Amino acid sequence: MPSDEDFLRLAIALAHQGRERGGHPFGAVLVRGGKVVHQVYDRCAEFSDPTFHSELSLISEYCRAYHVMSLEEYTLYASTEPCPMCAGAIHWARISRVVFSVSQAMLQELSGGSPKPNAASIINATRYPIEVVGPLIPEEGLTVFEGYAFTANRAIPSAGHPGDGAPTT
Ligand SMILES: [Zn+2]
Repeated sequence: MPSDEDFLRLAIALAHQGRERGGHPFGAVLVRGGKVVHQVYDRCAEFSDPTFHSELSLISEYCRAYHVMSLEEYTLYASTEPCPMCAGAIHWARISRVVFSVSQAMLQELSGGSPKPNAASIINATRYPIEVVGPLIPEEGLTVFEGYAFTANRAIPSAGHPGDGAPTT
């Protein structure tokens, strides 16, 4: 059976893939019973959607496709520790286990971003416990950020924003 490190390496490979396609360097993998059931890389730029983080889209797409509302007995592997938004989604999806490579603290050190609460504190805000493991093999996870420029707006240019004069209906 593949190890946590094996699944994390897949999430890291997806993060590299997302970056190569012009997006943010993040990837996530959903595993059940030792098998990968869904995998994504970050597509915020592709869809001009700042909420479409890899963990969030992984949960949303899988649950919609298979008509499930609870991901108990699933493990989510993330190339970087989930942000507060994704940690909230993991909480609501009741995922049993979360394993990440690079911590939010390591990411903020690189990006110069503001400190964020760790994922475990948000994921485990209520009584059912979710196991959170990491940072694991961070030296491998950090490779996705080598030479990466952190810019707020990485959206693929479009005809304009709603309200800029373009039709909105
Ligand atoms: Zn996120």
